[in-house]
Amino acid sequence: MKQIYAFESKRDYEKYQDTIERFQNKLVTYQQELEQNYALNDLPKAIVWTTGELATTTFSEIPIPAFTNKDIIYISPDVRYWRNLFVQQLEGREHPRIKAFYENLSEEHIFAIVGHELMHHSDLFVDEFDDDREDSIWFEEGMCEYLSKKLILDEEAFNEITNVESELVEMFKDTYGHHSIDAFGEASYQGSLTSIMFDYWRSFLAVKYLVEEQANHDVKQVFKAYQEWHTNGRKEPLSVYIGIQFFFD
Ligand SMILES: [Zn+2]
Repeated sequence: MKQIYAFESKRDYEKYQDTIERFQNKLVTYQQELEQNYALNDLPKAIVWTTGELATTTFSEIPIPAFTNKDIIYISPDVRYWRNLFVQQLEGREHPRIKAFYENLSEEHIFAIVGHELMHHSDLFVDEFDDDREDSIWFEEGMCEYLSKKLILDEEAFNEITNVESELVEMFKDTYGHHSIDAFGEASYQGSLTSIMFDYWRSFLAVKYLVEEQANHDVKQVFKAYQEWHTNGRKEPLSVYIGIQFFFD
């Protein structure tokens, strides 16, 4: 996995150098964990470290500076950029506690986003990035959210982000939550950051419920059910097959 530094100036690179180094050190252990326990067999070709602005305007048009394209992970290590972005998710609604949480978001949470991107490369997922199947995106995104947070954050930080994202789902479900969980991405036609993020929060909470409540913390059992649904020909929506369809009613 090549490490590529995409900055417009040496000064920009120097600004993020220390954070990138800390992330790369943590990545060694995290990568080993995924290789040993989560079928990470083929690494992406590269990680491109860049600014939030370049990630969202030059390398893509997506407003979120973390994504995978053609086997290359793009990520901004700019904690301040992420904090600002996450505060915008509130769309101006008054919620001082969530606002303060994001304004002080720790570097650990940003590293968990790197972890999310690498998790996508696990062979436990049956879909490829470039295939046309969309009906299990919620599972893959939710699982990448869940496992990266679970493996990287300490228990307190994990519980805190769970509470914040639960509240955000409550807050925005009447605006962005009218589609089923199987139609991941459907609300994002509205184009706002919050409409995109809503599906990530919801899928994270669904997978957390599946692993911790339904499967008694046995994540392998949850992967097995999902793989069986695929092998059996995807005859019904995954949410129905796996028993999560009423979770948010
Ligand atoms: Zn993802």
